[in-house]
Amino acid sequence: MKETGLKIRKSGDSVLKRPVKLVEKVTDEHRKTLSEMARLMYSVSGIGLAAPQVGLEESMAVVDIGTGLYKLINPKIVKYNGEQVNEEGCLSVPDRGVKVKRASHVVVEALDENGKRLVIEAEGLLACALQHEIDHLNGRLIIDYEKKLP
Ligand code: ZN
Repeated sequence: MKETGLKIRKSGDSVLKRPVKLVEKVTDEHRKTLSEMARLMYSVSGIGLAAPQVGLEESMAVVDIGTGLYKLINPKIVKYNGEQVNEEGCLSVPDRGVKVKRASHVVVEALDENGKRLVIEAEGLLACALQHEIDHLNGRLIIDYEKKLP
């Protein structure tokens, strides 16, 4: 099997600070990239990985908190509810934990890898992971929250 060419970008890399572009048409290239991102995420025992973390500036992310893999294109949060605070880690911010306050329930709309509309209602850890990855797509890292919590 061919080795994936994707490498995880670390905090300080400017690609992590730039918002991505929306995917206009889902192609085989996107499907291939999402599979490679998932493979990379599992290989480092991550629960989520967003395109900017591998240097790509398109709206794509993969999430699996242990309950199944989501391959997401153009994900956006359409409903927020409640509140949770967790210490989060990030593959792009090695060896750091940051307390982040997020919604406890979210509804996320996205396209799946076939370009079909997907609606995910999530709470707890999955809601947290989805918000974390969507933050990446907006150029936001967990370290950007450090000054915002009392
Ligand atoms: Zn992250």
